[in-house]
Amino acid sequence: MFSLVWLKEVLTLNNFAQCIENLEEKPLGVTAFSIDSRTIQPSECFVALPGERFDGHDFIPDCVRLGVKVFIIERTYYKKHKKALLPGIFFVVKKSREALGVLAREYRKYLFSKVIAVTGSSGKTTTRELIAYLLSLKYQVHSTKKNLNNDIGLPLTVLEAKEGAHFMVLEMGMNHPGEIGYLSSIMHPYASVITNVGYAHIGNLGSLYNIARAKGEIFRGMVPKYGVAFLNRNDEFYSYHKKLSPVEVVDVIPEEVTIMENRGLEGYLLYYQGMSFRFRLPGRHNITNLAIALKVAEYFGVDIMQALHAIEDFQPVSGRSEIIKTAQWTIINDAYNANPSSMRAALFMLKDLPGRRVAILGDMLELGKLSRSLHEMIGETIVTNQVADLVILHGEESRYAFEKLKSNQMLAFWFPSKQELVRSIRSLLQPGDTILVKASHGMKMEEVVEELRRG
Ligand code: ATP
Ligand code: MG
Repeated sequence: MFSLVWLKEVLTLNNFAQCIENLEEKPLGVTAFSIDSRTIQPSECFVALPGERFDGHDFIPDCVRLGVKVFIIERTYYKKHKKALLPGIFFVVKKSREALGVLAREYRKYLFSKVIAVTGSSGKTTTRELIAYLLSLKYQVHSTKKNLNNDIGLPLTVLEAKEGAHFMVLEMGMNHPGEIGYLSSIMHPYASVITNVGYAHIGNLGSLYNIARAKGEIFRGMVPKYGVAFLNRNDEFYSYHKKLSPVEVVDVIPEEVTIMENRGLEGYLLYYQGMSFRFRLPGRHNITNLAIALKVAEYFGVDIMQALHAIEDFQPVSGRSEIIKTAQWTIINDAYNANPSSMRAALFMLKDLPGRRVAILGDMLELGKLSRSLHEMIGETIVTNQVADLVILHGEESRYAFEKLKSNQMLAFWFPSKQELVRSIRSLLQPGDTILVKASHGMKMEEVVEELRRG
Protein backbone atom coordinates (compact mmCIF):
# COMPACT_ATOMS: atom_id res chain seq x y z
CA MET A 1 0.00 0.00 0.00
CA PHE A 2 1.27 3.46 -0.94
CA SER A 3 -0.15 5.92 1.59
CA LEU A 4 -1.59 9.18 0.36
CA VAL A 5 0.77 10.98 2.71
CA TRP A 6 3.75 9.32 1.00
CA LEU A 7 2.40 10.12 -2.45
CA LYS A 8 1.85 13.73 -1.51
CA GLU A 9 5.27 14.04 0.04
CA VAL A 10 7.11 12.51 -2.90
CA LEU A 11 5.29 14.59 -5.45
CA THR A 12 5.48 17.78 -3.41
CA LEU A 13 9.20 17.52 -2.99
CA ASN A 14 9.65 17.01 -6.68
CA ASN A 15 7.48 18.26 -9.51
CA PHE A 16 4.22 18.45 -7.63
CA ALA A 17 1.92 21.37 -8.35
CA GLN A 18 -1.08 20.82 -6.14
CA CYS A 19 -3.45 18.26 -4.67
CA ILE A 20 -7.15 18.77 -5.33
CA GLU A 21 -9.38 16.83 -2.99
CA ASN A 22 -12.83 16.59 -4.36
CA LEU A 23 -13.97 13.66 -2.26
CA GLU A 24 -15.44 13.41 1.19
CA GLU A 25 -14.28 9.98 2.13
CA LYS A 26 -10.54 9.72 1.59
CA PRO A 27 -8.90 6.34 1.02
CA LEU A 28 -5.85 5.56 3.12
CA GLY A 29 -3.72 5.00 0.07
CA VAL A 30 -3.43 3.11 -3.19
CA THR A 31 -2.37 -0.47 -3.83
CA ALA A 32 -0.69 0.16 -7.19
CA PHE A 33 -0.34 2.49 -10.18
CA SER A 34 -2.03 1.97 -13.51
CA ILE A 35 -2.08 3.78 -16.84
CA ASP A 36 -4.80 1.60 -18.35
CA SER A 37 -8.49 2.21 -17.58
CA ARG A 38 -9.36 -1.21 -19.03
CA THR A 39 -7.50 -3.15 -16.38
CA ILE A 40 -7.43 -0.75 -13.41
CA GLN A 41 -8.75 -1.81 -9.99
CA PRO A 42 -10.70 0.60 -7.74
CA SER A 43 -7.90 0.61 -5.16
CA GLU A 44 -5.28 1.74 -7.71
CA CYS A 45 -4.07 5.20 -8.70
CA PHE A 46 -4.73 6.14 -12.32
CA VAL A 47 -1.85 7.96 -13.95
CA ALA A 48 -3.19 9.87 -16.96
CA LEU A 49 -0.61 9.90 -19.74
CA PRO A 50 -0.98 11.89 -22.91
CA GLY A 51 0.10 9.62 -25.78
CA GLU A 52 0.45 9.95 -29.51
CA ARG A 53 -2.89 8.39 -30.32
CA PHE A 54 -4.84 8.54 -27.06
CA ASP A 55 -4.83 10.86 -24.12
CA GLY A 56 -5.15 9.01 -20.81
CA HIS A 57 -7.03 11.97 -19.37
CA ASP A 58 -9.99 11.09 -21.60
CA PHE A 59 -10.45 7.90 -19.61
CA ILE A 60 -10.77 9.53 -16.20
CA PRO A 61 -14.61 9.35 -16.29
CA ASP A 62 -14.37 5.58 -16.96
CA CYS A 63 -12.05 5.19 -13.97
CA VAL A 64 -14.37 7.22 -11.72
CA ARG A 65 -17.25 4.99 -12.79
CA LEU A 66 -15.16 1.94 -11.84
CA GLY A 67 -14.61 3.36 -8.36
CA VAL A 68 -11.05 4.66 -8.77
CA LYS A 69 -10.44 7.46 -6.28
CA VAL A 70 -6.88 8.69 -6.79
CA PHE A 71 -5.48 10.26 -9.96
CA ILE A 72 -2.29 11.82 -11.22
CA ILE A 73 -3.16 14.34 -13.93
CA GLU A 74 -1.34 17.04 -15.84
CA ARG A 75 -1.71 20.75 -15.23
CA THR A 76 -2.89 21.60 -18.75
CA TYR A 77 -5.80 19.16 -18.37
CA TYR A 78 -6.61 20.44 -14.93
CA LYS A 79 -6.75 24.05 -16.08
CA LYS A 80 -9.31 23.16 -18.74
CA HIS A 81 -11.47 20.98 -16.54
CA LYS A 82 -11.22 22.43 -13.06
CA LYS A 83 -14.74 23.81 -13.05
CA ALA A 84 -16.26 20.39 -13.64
CA LEU A 85 -13.81 18.10 -11.90
CA LEU A 86 -15.17 14.65 -11.12
CA PRO A 87 -15.08 13.28 -7.56
CA GLY A 88 -11.62 12.07 -6.58
CA ILE A 89 -8.24 13.07 -5.24
CA PHE A 90 -6.23 14.66 -8.02
CA PHE A 91 -2.49 15.15 -7.86
CA VAL A 92 -1.80 17.78 -10.46
CA VAL A 93 1.69 17.55 -11.93
CA LYS A 94 3.52 19.18 -14.79
CA LYS A 95 4.28 15.93 -16.62
CA SER A 96 2.79 12.56 -15.63
CA ARG A 97 5.74 10.68 -17.15
CA GLU A 98 8.14 12.55 -14.92
CA ALA A 99 5.90 11.98 -11.92
CA LEU A 100 6.06 8.23 -12.61
CA GLY A 101 9.86 8.42 -12.71
CA VAL A 102 9.99 10.33 -9.44
CA LEU A 103 7.67 7.87 -7.71
CA ALA A 104 9.74 4.92 -8.94
CA ARG A 105 12.98 6.58 -7.83
CA GLU A 106 11.71 7.29 -4.34
CA TYR A 107 10.10 3.89 -3.94
CA ARG A 108 13.33 2.14 -4.91
CA LYS A 109 15.24 4.22 -2.38
CA TYR A 110 12.67 3.39 0.27
CA LEU A 111 13.02 -0.35 -0.48
CA PHE A 112 16.84 -0.18 -0.42
CA SER A 113 16.92 -2.62 -3.35
CA LYS A 114 20.06 -2.82 -5.46
CA VAL A 115 19.31 -2.21 -9.13
CA ILE A 116 20.88 -4.35 -11.83
CA ALA A 117 20.34 -2.53 -15.11
CA VAL A 118 20.58 -4.45 -18.37
CA THR A 119 20.97 -2.75 -21.72
CA GLY A 120 22.25 -3.70 -25.17
CA SER A 121 20.95 -3.93 -28.70
CA SER A 122 19.82 -7.54 -28.35
CA GLY A 123 19.36 -10.03 -25.57
CA LYS A 124 18.22 -7.65 -22.82
CA THR A 125 15.06 -9.51 -21.87
CA THR A 126 16.66 -12.94 -22.02
CA THR A 127 19.71 -11.83 -20.02
CA ARG A 128 17.52 -10.03 -17.50
CA GLU A 129 15.42 -13.17 -17.04
CA LEU A 130 18.50 -15.35 -16.64
CA ILE A 131 20.03 -12.98 -14.08
CA ALA A 132 16.80 -12.73 -12.08
CA TYR A 133 16.41 -16.52 -12.17
CA LEU A 134 19.92 -17.19 -10.89
CA LEU A 135 19.93 -14.47 -8.24
CA SER A 136 16.61 -15.77 -6.88
CA LEU A 137 18.51 -18.86 -5.75
CA LYS A 138 19.91 -16.71 -2.97
CA TYR A 139 17.96 -13.45 -2.82
CA GLN A 140 14.53 -11.85 -3.09
CA VAL A 141 14.52 -10.55 -6.63
CA HIS A 142 12.06 -8.27 -8.35
CA SER A 143 11.77 -8.45 -12.10
CA THR A 144 8.93 -8.57 -14.58
CA LYS A 145 8.03 -11.10 -17.20
CA LYS A 146 7.07 -8.31 -19.55
CA ASN A 147 9.21 -6.30 -21.91
CA LEU A 148 8.82 -3.02 -20.03
CA ASN A 149 11.97 -1.06 -20.67
CA ASN A 150 11.10 2.59 -21.34
CA ASP A 151 10.35 5.66 -19.23
CA ILE A 152 6.80 4.41 -18.57
CA GLY A 153 7.22 0.66 -18.34
CA LEU A 154 10.32 0.71 -16.18
CA PRO A 155 8.86 2.97 -13.43
CA LEU A 156 5.66 0.90 -13.45
CA THR A 157 7.75 -2.25 -13.02
CA VAL A 158 9.62 -0.73 -10.09
CA LEU A 159 6.38 0.35 -8.44
CA GLU A 160 5.23 -3.29 -8.53
CA ALA A 161 8.12 -4.46 -6.35
CA LYS A 162 7.33 -6.03 -3.01
CA GLU A 163 8.96 -4.93 0.21
CA GLY A 164 12.07 -6.93 0.96
CA ALA A 165 13.40 -7.13 -2.61
CA HIS A 166 17.20 -7.27 -2.37
CA PHE A 167 17.57 -6.80 -6.12
CA MET A 168 15.60 -5.32 -8.97
CA VAL A 169 16.72 -6.56 -12.35
CA LEU A 170 15.59 -4.00 -14.89
CA GLU A 171 15.82 -3.79 -18.64
CA MET A 172 16.69 -0.40 -20.10
CA GLY A 173 15.87 0.17 -23.76
CA MET A 174 16.01 3.14 -26.07
CA ASN A 175 15.12 4.48 -29.48
CA HIS A 176 16.92 7.79 -29.00
CA PRO A 177 19.94 9.20 -27.20
CA GLY A 178 19.23 10.35 -23.66
CA GLU A 179 16.64 7.69 -22.83
CA ILE A 180 18.94 5.25 -21.08
CA GLY A 181 20.67 8.15 -19.32
CA TYR A 182 17.32 9.24 -17.93
CA LEU A 183 16.41 5.73 -16.75
CA SER A 184 19.81 5.29 -15.14
CA SER A 185 19.62 8.67 -13.43
CA ILE A 186 16.34 7.79 -11.74
CA MET A 187 17.26 4.21 -10.85
CA HIS A 188 20.93 4.62 -9.78
CA PRO A 189 22.05 1.12 -10.80
CA TYR A 190 24.46 -0.71 -8.54
CA ALA A 191 25.34 -3.03 -11.40
CA SER A 192 25.20 -2.33 -15.12
CA VAL A 193 25.22 -4.88 -17.90
CA ILE A 194 25.77 -4.15 -21.60
CA THR A 195 25.03 -7.24 -23.67
CA ASN A 196 26.22 -5.89 -27.04
CA VAL A 197 26.07 -3.01 -29.51
CA GLY A 198 24.31 -3.69 -32.79
CA TYR A 199 22.38 -1.91 -35.49
CA ALA A 200 19.05 -1.59 -33.64
CA HIS A 201 17.37 1.82 -34.17
CA ILE A 202 20.33 3.08 -36.19
CA GLY A 203 17.85 5.19 -38.19
CA ASN A 204 17.44 7.42 -35.14
CA LEU A 205 21.01 7.18 -33.87
CA GLY A 206 22.98 7.62 -37.08
CA SER A 207 26.02 5.43 -36.39
CA LEU A 208 27.16 2.41 -34.44
CA TYR A 209 29.35 4.69 -32.33
CA ASN A 210 26.31 6.78 -31.39
CA ILE A 211 24.52 3.59 -30.37
CA ALA A 212 27.49 2.58 -28.21
CA ARG A 213 27.47 6.03 -26.63
CA ALA A 214 23.74 5.83 -25.92
CA LYS A 215 24.21 2.40 -24.28
CA GLY A 216 27.05 3.91 -22.24
CA GLU A 217 24.53 6.29 -20.70
CA ILE A 218 23.70 3.39 -18.41
CA PHE A 219 26.61 4.58 -16.27
CA ARG A 220 25.11 8.03 -15.80
CA GLY A 221 23.21 7.25 -12.60
CA MET A 222 25.92 5.09 -11.03
CA VAL A 223 27.88 6.29 -8.06
CA PRO A 224 31.59 6.36 -9.05
CA LYS A 225 33.61 3.47 -7.58
CA TYR A 226 30.47 2.01 -5.99
CA GLY A 227 29.15 -1.00 -7.85
CA VAL A 228 30.15 -3.02 -10.86
CA ALA A 229 29.77 -3.22 -14.65
CA PHE A 230 29.58 -6.47 -16.60
CA LEU A 231 30.86 -6.12 -20.17
CA ASN A 232 30.97 -8.60 -23.03
CA ARG A 233 34.60 -8.97 -24.10
CA ASN A 234 33.52 -10.06 -27.58
CA ASP A 235 31.64 -6.86 -28.23
CA GLU A 236 33.17 -4.36 -30.63
CA PHE A 237 32.69 -1.55 -28.09
CA TYR A 238 33.97 -3.43 -25.05
CA SER A 239 37.07 -1.22 -24.63
CA TYR A 240 35.07 1.94 -25.20
CA HIS A 241 32.59 1.03 -22.46
CA LYS A 242 35.35 -0.16 -20.16
CA LYS A 243 36.97 3.28 -20.35
CA LEU A 244 33.65 4.94 -19.77
CA SER A 245 32.73 2.84 -16.73
CA PRO A 246 32.86 4.72 -13.42
CA VAL A 247 33.03 1.42 -11.53
CA GLU A 248 34.96 -1.85 -11.49
CA VAL A 249 34.51 -3.90 -14.67
CA VAL A 250 33.97 -7.65 -14.70
CA ASP A 251 34.78 -9.17 -18.08
CA VAL A 252 32.38 -11.66 -19.57
CA ILE A 253 34.14 -14.12 -21.85
CA PRO A 254 31.42 -16.10 -23.61
CA GLU A 255 33.90 -18.85 -24.66
CA GLU A 256 34.31 -19.79 -21.00
CA VAL A 257 30.99 -21.57 -21.41
CA THR A 258 31.85 -24.34 -23.84
CA ILE A 259 29.60 -26.47 -25.99
CA MET A 260 29.81 -30.22 -25.43
CA GLU A 261 26.85 -31.02 -27.63
CA ASN A 262 24.53 -28.97 -29.81
CA ARG A 263 21.03 -30.42 -29.51
CA GLY A 264 19.37 -28.08 -32.03
CA LEU A 265 16.02 -26.85 -30.82
CA GLU A 266 16.49 -28.67 -27.52
CA GLY A 267 19.39 -26.34 -26.72
CA TYR A 268 22.83 -27.54 -25.62
CA LEU A 269 24.85 -29.61 -23.30
CA LEU A 270 27.31 -27.07 -21.91
CA TYR A 271 30.37 -27.08 -19.69
CA TYR A 272 31.44 -24.43 -17.19
CA GLN A 273 33.83 -24.53 -14.25
CA GLY A 274 34.15 -28.29 -14.18
CA MET A 275 30.50 -29.15 -14.57
CA SER A 276 28.37 -30.12 -17.55
CA PHE A 277 24.73 -29.11 -17.65
CA ARG A 278 21.77 -28.87 -20.00
CA PHE A 279 20.66 -25.47 -21.30
CA ARG A 280 17.29 -25.39 -23.06
CA LEU A 281 17.66 -22.20 -25.08
CA PRO A 282 18.79 -22.79 -28.66
CA GLY A 283 21.20 -20.46 -30.46
CA ARG A 284 24.75 -19.49 -29.64
CA HIS A 285 23.67 -15.95 -28.78
CA ASN A 286 21.88 -17.38 -25.77
CA ILE A 287 25.15 -18.86 -24.53
CA THR A 288 26.49 -15.29 -24.43
CA ASN A 289 23.42 -14.22 -22.46
CA LEU A 290 23.98 -17.13 -20.09
CA ALA A 291 27.69 -16.33 -19.69
CA ILE A 292 26.74 -12.81 -18.59
CA ALA A 293 24.15 -14.07 -16.11
CA LEU A 294 26.62 -16.57 -14.63
CA LYS A 295 29.19 -13.82 -14.01
CA VAL A 296 26.56 -11.66 -12.32
CA ALA A 297 25.37 -14.56 -10.16
CA GLU A 298 28.95 -15.47 -9.24
CA TYR A 299 29.79 -11.88 -8.36
CA PHE A 300 26.89 -11.69 -5.95
CA GLY A 301 27.85 -14.93 -4.26
CA VAL A 302 25.41 -17.44 -5.75
CA ASP A 303 26.89 -20.93 -5.55
CA ILE A 304 27.89 -21.69 -9.12
CA MET A 305 27.26 -25.44 -8.93
CA GLN A 306 23.78 -24.72 -7.65
CA ALA A 307 23.29 -22.17 -10.44
CA LEU A 308 24.30 -24.65 -13.16
CA HIS A 309 22.02 -27.23 -11.69
CA ALA A 310 19.11 -24.78 -11.62
CA ILE A 311 19.72 -23.52 -15.16
CA GLU A 312 18.63 -26.91 -16.50
CA ASP A 313 15.04 -25.94 -15.66
CA PHE A 314 15.17 -22.45 -17.16
CA GLN A 315 12.45 -21.99 -19.80
CA PRO A 316 12.69 -19.64 -22.79
CA VAL A 317 11.00 -16.25 -22.53
CA SER A 318 7.77 -16.49 -24.52
CA GLY A 319 7.49 -14.83 -27.95
CA ARG A 320 11.25 -14.95 -28.47
CA SER A 321 12.46 -18.00 -30.28
CA GLU A 322 9.26 -19.75 -29.26
CA ILE A 323 9.19 -23.26 -30.68
CA ILE A 324 5.91 -24.54 -32.08
CA LYS A 325 5.71 -28.11 -33.33
CA THR A 326 2.80 -29.02 -35.56
CA ALA A 327 2.11 -32.33 -37.30
CA GLN A 328 3.72 -30.92 -40.45
CA TRP A 329 6.62 -28.73 -39.40
CA THR A 330 8.56 -27.00 -36.68
CA ILE A 331 8.17 -23.24 -36.37
CA ILE A 332 10.56 -20.93 -34.56
CA ASN A 333 8.44 -17.92 -33.79
CA ASP A 334 10.73 -14.93 -33.55
CA ALA A 335 8.16 -12.56 -35.03
CA TYR A 336 8.33 -10.53 -31.85
CA ASN A 337 11.03 -8.23 -33.17
CA ALA A 338 14.17 -7.94 -35.28
CA ASN A 339 17.19 -5.80 -35.90
CA PRO A 340 20.27 -6.69 -37.97
CA SER A 341 22.14 -8.24 -35.02
CA SER A 342 19.26 -10.32 -33.75
CA MET A 343 18.40 -11.33 -37.32
CA ARG A 344 21.92 -12.66 -37.80
CA ALA A 345 21.80 -14.47 -34.46
CA ALA A 346 18.51 -16.15 -35.37
CA LEU A 347 19.78 -17.14 -38.82
CA PHE A 348 22.90 -18.73 -37.34
CA MET A 349 20.65 -20.65 -34.99
CA LEU A 350 18.62 -21.91 -37.97
CA LYS A 351 21.82 -23.03 -39.69
CA ASP A 352 22.45 -25.73 -37.10
CA LEU A 353 18.93 -27.19 -37.15
CA PRO A 354 17.78 -30.41 -38.79
CA GLY A 355 15.30 -30.66 -41.69
CA ARG A 356 14.96 -28.32 -44.64
CA ARG A 357 15.72 -24.89 -43.21
CA VAL A 358 13.25 -22.20 -44.22
CA ALA A 359 13.62 -18.54 -43.27
CA ILE A 360 10.49 -16.38 -43.54
CA LEU A 361 11.75 -12.87 -42.96
CA GLY A 362 10.14 -9.46 -42.94
CA ASP A 363 11.59 -5.96 -42.92
CA MET A 364 13.78 -4.69 -40.11
CA LEU A 365 12.47 -1.21 -39.36
CA GLU A 366 13.97 2.01 -38.01
CA LEU A 367 17.24 1.65 -39.92
CA GLY A 368 17.07 5.00 -41.73
CA LYS A 369 19.65 5.63 -44.44
CA LEU A 370 21.41 2.35 -43.72
CA SER A 371 18.28 0.29 -44.27
CA ARG A 372 19.14 -0.79 -47.79
CA SER A 373 22.71 -1.83 -47.04
CA LEU A 374 21.71 -3.66 -43.85
CA HIS A 375 19.02 -5.63 -45.68
CA GLU A 376 21.61 -6.45 -48.34
CA MET A 377 23.95 -7.53 -45.57
CA ILE A 378 21.31 -10.01 -44.34
CA GLY A 379 21.09 -11.38 -47.88
CA GLU A 380 24.88 -11.76 -47.94
CA THR A 381 24.92 -13.44 -44.54
CA ILE A 382 22.45 -16.02 -45.80
CA VAL A 383 24.45 -16.68 -48.97
CA THR A 384 27.93 -16.72 -47.43
CA ASN A 385 27.05 -18.92 -44.48
CA GLN A 386 24.42 -21.07 -46.18
CA VAL A 387 22.12 -20.71 -43.19
CA ALA A 388 18.89 -21.57 -45.03
CA ASP A 389 17.69 -23.77 -47.89
CA LEU A 390 14.68 -21.64 -48.76
CA VAL A 391 14.11 -17.94 -48.02
CA ILE A 392 10.72 -16.22 -48.17
CA LEU A 393 10.73 -12.46 -47.80
CA HIS A 394 8.11 -9.82 -47.15
CA GLY A 395 8.23 -6.01 -47.15
CA GLU A 396 9.63 -3.16 -49.19
CA GLU A 397 13.10 -3.20 -47.65
CA SER A 398 13.47 -6.98 -47.80
CA ARG A 399 13.55 -6.67 -51.56
CA TYR A 400 17.20 -5.70 -51.20
CA ALA A 401 17.96 -8.96 -49.41
CA PHE A 402 15.94 -10.79 -52.06
CA GLU A 403 18.02 -9.30 -54.87
CA LYS A 404 21.23 -10.49 -53.20
CA LEU A 405 19.80 -13.99 -52.85
CA LYS A 406 18.59 -14.16 -56.43
CA SER A 407 21.88 -12.93 -57.85
CA ASN A 408 23.52 -15.79 -55.97
CA GLN A 409 21.08 -18.41 -57.25
CA MET A 410 19.47 -19.07 -53.89
CA LEU A 411 15.95 -20.46 -53.66
CA ALA A 412 14.04 -17.36 -52.62
CA PHE A 413 10.63 -15.67 -52.98
CA TRP A 414 9.58 -12.11 -52.27
CA PHE A 415 6.03 -11.00 -51.44
CA PRO A 416 5.23 -7.30 -51.26
CA SER A 417 1.82 -8.15 -49.78
CA LYS A 418 1.35 -10.09 -46.55
CA GLN A 419 -2.03 -11.43 -47.68
CA GLU A 420 -0.37 -12.86 -50.75
CA LEU A 421 2.34 -14.41 -48.61
CA VAL A 422 -0.16 -16.00 -46.20
CA ARG A 423 -2.18 -17.31 -49.14
CA SER A 424 0.84 -18.84 -50.89
CA ILE A 425 2.90 -20.05 -47.97
CA ARG A 426 1.65 -23.63 -47.84
CA SER A 427 2.45 -24.28 -51.47
CA LEU A 428 6.10 -23.41 -50.77
CA LEU A 429 6.57 -25.59 -47.71
CA GLN A 430 7.11 -29.29 -47.24
CA PRO A 431 6.40 -31.62 -44.31
CA GLY A 432 9.41 -31.79 -42.01
CA ASP A 433 10.52 -28.20 -42.65
CA THR A 434 12.11 -26.16 -39.87
CA ILE A 435 10.80 -22.63 -40.29
CA LEU A 436 12.13 -19.44 -38.74
CA VAL A 437 9.74 -16.46 -38.79
CA LYS A 438 11.35 -13.15 -37.94
CA ALA A 439 10.80 -9.44 -38.60
CA SER A 440 10.37 -6.15 -36.81
CA HIS A 441 7.31 -5.95 -34.61
CA GLY A 442 5.58 -3.49 -36.97
CA MET A 443 5.57 -6.09 -39.77
CA LYS A 444 3.06 -8.21 -37.84
CA MET A 445 4.58 -11.47 -39.02
CA GLU A 446 2.67 -13.27 -36.26
CA GLU A 447 -0.09 -13.47 -38.89
CA VAL A 448 2.16 -15.85 -40.83
CA VAL A 449 2.88 -17.80 -37.64
CA GLU A 450 -0.87 -18.14 -37.02
CA GLU A 451 -1.34 -19.56 -40.50
CA LEU A 452 1.50 -22.05 -40.04
CA ARG A 453 0.34 -22.99 -36.55
CA ARG A 454 -2.74 -24.62 -38.08
CA GLY A 455 -0.33 -27.26 -39.26
P1 ATP B 1 13.92 -5.71 -27.29
O1 ATP B 1 14.81 -4.55 -27.69
O2 ATP B 1 12.88 -6.04 -28.32
O3 ATP B 1 13.37 -5.59 -25.91
P2 ATP B 1 15.87 -7.54 -26.20
O4 ATP B 1 17.14 -6.81 -26.27
O5 ATP B 1 15.14 -7.57 -24.91
O6 ATP B 1 14.88 -7.03 -27.35
P3 ATP B 1 15.54 -10.39 -26.33
O7 ATP B 1 14.07 -10.21 -26.27
O8 ATP B 1 16.21 -11.05 -25.20
O9 ATP B 1 16.23 -9.02 -26.66
O10 ATP B 1 15.90 -11.21 -27.65
C1 ATP B 1 15.34 -10.80 -28.89
C2 ATP B 1 16.00 -11.52 -30.03
O11 ATP B 1 17.33 -11.06 -30.17
C3 ATP B 1 16.14 -13.03 -29.84
O12 ATP B 1 15.03 -13.74 -30.27
C4 ATP B 1 17.38 -13.36 -30.64
O13 ATP B 1 17.03 -13.52 -32.01
C5 ATP B 1 18.23 -12.11 -30.52
N1 ATP B 1 19.27 -12.17 -29.48
C6 ATP B 1 19.11 -12.47 -28.16
N2 ATP B 1 20.26 -12.41 -27.50
C7 ATP B 1 21.20 -12.01 -28.39
C8 ATP B 1 22.61 -11.75 -28.33
N3 ATP B 1 23.29 -11.88 -27.19
N4 ATP B 1 23.23 -11.39 -29.48
C9 ATP B 1 22.57 -11.25 -30.65
N5 ATP B 1 21.25 -11.49 -30.76
C10 ATP B 1 20.56 -11.87 -29.67
MG1 MG C 1 13.36 -6.74 -24.37
